Amino acid sequence: MIETPKNLTRNILLGMFLGFLVGSLFFYLNIFPESLITFIKVYVFNLGSAIFVNLLKLLIVPLVFFSLVSGISSLTSMTSLGNISFKTIALYLSTTAVAVSLSLIVGSIFKPGAGYSSNIAPPEKLPEGQGIYETILDVFPSNIIEAMAQNQMLAVVFFSILFGLALNKTNHLTGNFSEAFEKLNTVFMQLVIMIISFAPIGVFCLIGKFVITDGLDIFQEAFKYVILLISVLIIHAFVTYSLILKIFTNLNIWTFFKKMKEVAIFAFSTSSSAATIPVTLKAVQDDLGVNKNVASFVIPVGATINMDGTAIMQGMATIFIAQMSGIDLTLIQYVQVVILAVVTSIGTAAVPSAGTITLVIILQQFGLPLEAIGIILAVDRILDMLRTSVNVTGDAAIACIVADSEDLLDKDIFNK
Ligand code: ASP
Repeated sequence: MIETPKNLTRNILLGMFLGFLVGSLFFYLNIFPESLITFIKVYVFNLGSAIFVNLLKLLIVPLVFFSLVSGISSLTSMTSLGNISFKTIALYLSTTAVAVSLSLIVGSIFKPGAGYSSNIAPPEKLPEGQGIYETILDVFPSNIIEAMAQNQMLAVVFFSILFGLALNKTNHLTGNFSEAFEKLNTVFMQLVIMIISFAPIGVFCLIGKFVITDGLDIFQEAFKYVILLISVLIIHAFVTYSLILKIFTNLNIWTFFKKMKEVAIFAFSTSSSAATIPVTLKAVQDDLGVNKNVASFVIPVGATINMDGTAIMQGMATIFIAQMSGIDLTLIQYVQVVILAVVTSIGTAAVPSAGTITLVIILQQFGLPLEAIGIILAVDRILDMLRTSVNVTGDAAIACIVADSEDLLDKDIFNK
């Protein structure tokens, strides 16, 4: 097994704490010269976090490609691939539907937008949403190099699955060429570890950049929306995932959450499920005991299509904006929000703030004022961090369930 750096979780937490501390010192204490603040902001926090995020992004396409190809090409039977993909996708879609429904229920009981009048100016340029038609078409690339260059993950996932299948079918003609991909995958996992060793510094810069720019009172605007949204994210992460783990497996839930800590912190600091893929993949295989072939399929696909936290935000934001504009949604419209949020969360790119862009599709559908996105964006940074943690926790929970159901989860590793 590949070695991981020692005390990584502790050091990441330390980096996060120091980021908050140093960021707040510079933001709140007026004792530092402006030039020093600018220097720290630009050359320490901004540059440090940009380098770290670039390195993580650098891994995404090759890692997804090699891990999916090696996972699929080494599955011995195609029936097991069929079963695994069916279960994975069914679970991903249903947990997302539960997530939005939860958010709509809480939103309609506690009414985040009632009596709220906003004075936040709309953003100058509204983000453009992508339609469902384009989302579907994007799965089928006409040029794989272009799709990879543009990080179109659905297309990359689709191509990798096809390639893995072809490799699997031709192994007897190519002298087991698929083994070469397994070896390359191991090399990439090593590269991941090398980059992740810098995570404590990367997380320090990411958090510091956030706090030194906006301080800690981003929470004031749209307070009720923020609190309700955070509550639903927490309920979904701890109640829904515990329940499905209880129903489908007999794994210890606390062990699961304990072992997910590092992944969640990582997702929180990067706000990107895609950038977190390397960490999720590693934790799911080495700490939770999910078989490598299952993990290599379930995690990259999950990071791309499974976004429960994002769907929760979209549900709550829709209710918030509707209530703010004095519009009552009907029951049929609630059902439409559920369907749309499931579909758009599939099409949402796993990068920071992407969920607010696809939110436009839902707002447009109901004729809700798009300018209200300004308020959502104003408070979105911290919420994006939290919902990304929920997104990746969902991917890992489902990886455990699918692996366990196929008898491909090593309980000794899980319980260690
Ligand atoms: N940042 C989220 C993710 O990468 C997507 C979003 O909701 O904006 O999972």
